[in-house]
Amino acid sequence: MAARRRTSFKLGVTGLGERQEIAPGLFINTFYRGCTPGFLVTDEGLILIDTPLIPEQAKDWRSQIEAEAPGLPILYVFNTDHHRGHALGNQYFLPATIIAHERAYKEMSGYTQNFKERVYNSFKREPEIQEQLTNIEIILPDVTFTDSARLQYGGREMQLIYAGGHTPATSIAWLPEEKIAFVGDILWVDQHPYMAQADSLEWVSALRRLRTLGAERLVPGHGPVCDPDDTIKVEEYILFKRQRVRDYYLAGKTKNEAKSGLVGEMLELFPVPLERKTKIESQIKSGINRVYREVQREEELAAAESRNGASLPSPVNASPVQQAQAEASLMPAPVAVETAQ
Ligand SMILES: [Zn+2]
Repeated sequence: MAARRRTSFKLGVTGLGERQEIAPGLFINTFYRGCTPGFLVTDEGLILIDTPLIPEQAKDWRSQIEAEAPGLPILYVFNTDHHRGHALGNQYFLPATIIAHERAYKEMSGYTQNFKERVYNSFKREPEIQEQLTNIEIILPDVTFTDSARLQYGGREMQLIYAGGHTPATSIAWLPEEKIAFVGDILWVDQHPYMAQADSLEWVSALRRLRTLGAERLVPGHGPVCDPDDTIKVEEYILFKRQRVRDYYLAGKTKNEAKSGLVGEMLELFPVPLERKTKIESQIKSGINRVYREVQREEELAAAESRNGASLPSPVNASPVQQAQAEASLMPAPVAVETAQ
């Protein structure tokens, strides 16, 4: 057992807290801001999933990892996506090899001084965190993959699998032996999913795949371990957003009208702490923005197809809108989202 952590040290809303062993040699920590990081201990070394954003928390995590597996090297750090909460702590785990989807590499290559300043400025109300963020170093993935990668060390296996949906880089870590998947920001529990870079249809199919993976437990990008059925609420949320945006689009409303008309309705679907209301509202609006463009493309494509007198499409060449309708029809009516809250 490791020594008790400092409990008086408060950072933001979370702080430092003890790791949790969710399977033999597999640990997570739900006390950090920005992500729920994990690590797998093998006889040959460690494989980490995501890195904490706040330096004090990243350093704390490294010391907890070293306390758990003294002398073992960190072989890999896997970033489930390129967002700050998952990848900005990479600098505290060197000289590990960083591995992520190729699109994460591309996104992170674009993190300039301006990005670092935005991260710094986003903590202006929390000076004790802000003062730690003066030396941000972007550590890009050393190794990238497109569809999947398999890490096998010390008799243990972790598969990295592209999922998409949340971002074009989002990938999961699947441990088939333990039947546990680290699913990054595909899964949000009782929180509004962050959709500013989303592909909503791809997201829905990613959620469905998580339920057929054979996983018994899922570790979401944020928060505690949950089970595969927790994906259903997020799926309903996304399908509901798609449906309502489509209603607005088909009624001839603009993107801005959809945003201002729908934000209140969407806000009610998951609890929102008062101090985060403005931020969540703007996130919901950027998600509506994204979905509106998708719906617009789908409807334009469907209209073009019907002008061309396309015959009944086979499932292979069904347009996105037809796929969406087919998928939506498998789901409970969107209203279930509201009554479930
Ligand atoms: Zn993310």
